[in-house]
Amino acid sequence: MPELPEVETIARGVDRRVRGERIVQAWFGRLPQTFKTPQSQQAKGLAGRTILAVHRTGKHIVFELGTEASAGAPEAQWIVHLGMTGRLLFATPDAPVAPHTHARLDLGSGNELRFVDPRRFGRLEFRNLRGSFRNRGDAAFEAPGAEPLTIGAVAFAELFRRRNMPIKAALLNQSLLAGVGNIYADESLFQAGIRPRRRTNRLTAAELERLRLALHQVLTQAIRLGGSSVSDYVDADGERGFFQIEHCVYQRTGEPCRRCETLIRRIELAGRGTHYCPTCQR
Ligand SMILES: [Zn+2]
Repeated sequence: MPELPEVETIARGVDRRVRGERIVQAWFGRLPQTFKTPQSQQAKGLAGRTILAVHRTGKHIVFELGTEASAGAPEAQWIVHLGMTGRLLFATPDAPVAPHTHARLDLGSGNELRFVDPRRFGRLEFRNLRGSFRNRGDAAFEAPGAEPLTIGAVAFAELFRRRNMPIKAALLNQSLLAGVGNIYADESLFQAGIRPRRRTNRLTAAELERLRLALHQVLTQAIRLGGSSVSDYVDADGERGFFQIEHCVYQRTGEPCRRCETLIRRIELAGRGTHYCPTCQR
């Protein structure tokens, strides 16, 4: 499942390829599960609009859409959640259409943007921010949790101070922080030297600040790595699969810690496999 760095990398790659493009028309498949907004409404809303920018919010990819008349101000949004197996592919019209293609935007340049999702946990949504005189228009998309790459020290500490739960579970709670998944939760707790079972309200201010910085470091490092391999999953002729950071603990059960050679342990926490070094993390 794509995590925050992958989604960020994909959003940047898509932005680079489609920013400024006009959507000539949009086609949607018939399987309803994928569509948070009915297909006909999405097709109607997208046609004729210009893609002003594409960016990540939480684990969602948000297309800001305007018209020539809107002079750069977003009038609508197309929101893509990749789910487990969703991909956005930038393709020329003659590129073979992959099985499980559920949506296609035909762009003014003649190229296409395709949404492919074998397992169909991905979601596509359209929001009209302007509305009409009859309805007020939709609110702009916001992820429920705080943004881990930009949150400050005080706000970060405030998220956890009054809660009493294992810190690992809190990191995975999407209503607290947006987009942090299992890999980066384990890796940042290792970098910060904090055991995953520690209770949030027992962590010191210094530990929480170490964790905030570790999370930032681990995520930006992964984004940097992803930047060089973006074409592997945005371009239709590229190879499948996300880049991997060199994990310190994640899925290294029984292997020696890279820092102290203690064997990495695995426990179940919040229903997820959780990996840590019993020596480096306290
Ligand atoms: Zn260690």
